[in-house]
Amino acid sequence: LEHLKDLFLKYERFENKWFPSTESINFSLDEMKQGIRNKQFETFLQPKIDLQTSRVTGAEALARWIHPVHGVIGPHIFIPLLEKNNQIDELSFLILDKAAAACRLLHNNNCKITVSVNLSLVSLDDITLANKISKIVKAADVDPSYITLEITETAAMTGAAHALENLTRLCMNGFKLSIDDYGTGYSSLQQLTRIAFSELKIDQSFIQDSVNNEAARIVIKSSIDMARELKVQSVAEGVETQQDWDMLKDMGCNTAQGYFIAKPMNLPSFIDYCVEKKQKY
Ligand code: C2E
Ligand code: MG
Ligand code: MG
Ligand code: MG
Repeated sequence: LEHLKDLFLKYERFENKWFPSTESINFSLDEMKQGIRNKQFETFLQPKIDLQTSRVTGAEALARWIHPVHGVIGPHIFIPLLEKNNQIDELSFLILDKAAAACRLLHNNNCKITVSVNLSLVSLDDITLANKISKIVKAADVDPSYITLEITETAAMTGAAHALENLTRLCMNGFKLSIDDYGTGYSSLQQLTRIAFSELKIDQSFIQDSVNNEAARIVIKSSIDMARELKVQSVAEGVETQQDWDMLKDMGCNTAQGYFIAKPMNLPSFIDYCVEKKQKY
């Protein structure tokens, strides 16, 4: 039993599979930086589907560390450490670079969808960020209007002084902005009134609670209604069941993302997925 307990502590679930836990591997910051430099990090794509037409409208780019020894490692292991040590930018630029290249390839294959990239709020403190992002996307020959930047508030957030300026600039440069994990951060509502967001992503915890929790359903419905009034897209993440899908469709939510539709996958698999779903337009 002790042995089992020991094993259990060394592993944790990620995408319904077991992976070695952070504690048991204990990556050093140097090892991560080395991994970024060696481009061991990959962009996985998860489809975003229009709830009314069932068509693929976009994909979210999610960072994965393809570790030569430990295999695929999820962001919960490396993002917090990188953020805490002010090293998240290098990863963000690598992921953006790969996401923009993926977007170009998809467009070349007649799949004209939007690709979303996650941005840590800590990165928004750098006054040159908007410029750097614009350069990377331009170099990939992608129109910024096909790149959505998902802004998440995290525990590491200490108040990015230049956030408003950066977001305004990115918006002026043609990028779409999205509030990620909506409903969990303390200033999400305030952000909505100050920045020209074009998408509101309802946090997956509300969707997961919705089956047994009426309050969660009311929060979801109100968020969808508010998004409509604000003339921004409503997106639900963490859609895991047919029941979730039906509820969101009934509520008039625009877009769904989650394991019920598909898990994040590498670029070749994502292209296959789009072709299979005859999502060429
Ligand atoms: P997020 O942006 O809210 O992304 C959604 C997360 O939910 C992803 O986890 C995705 O794999 C997972 N997910 C999708 N559908 C389902 C579902 O049906 N059920 C459940 N339980 N989960 C689902 P992932 O890939 O582990 O990423 C976790 C977080 O790490 C992301 O949350 C995002 O905040 C951050 N992240 C990921 N990639 C990057 C990146 O390149 N840069 C930055 N700054 N943050 C990133
Ligand atoms: Mg996101
Ligand atoms: Mg989210
Ligand atoms: Mg999240």
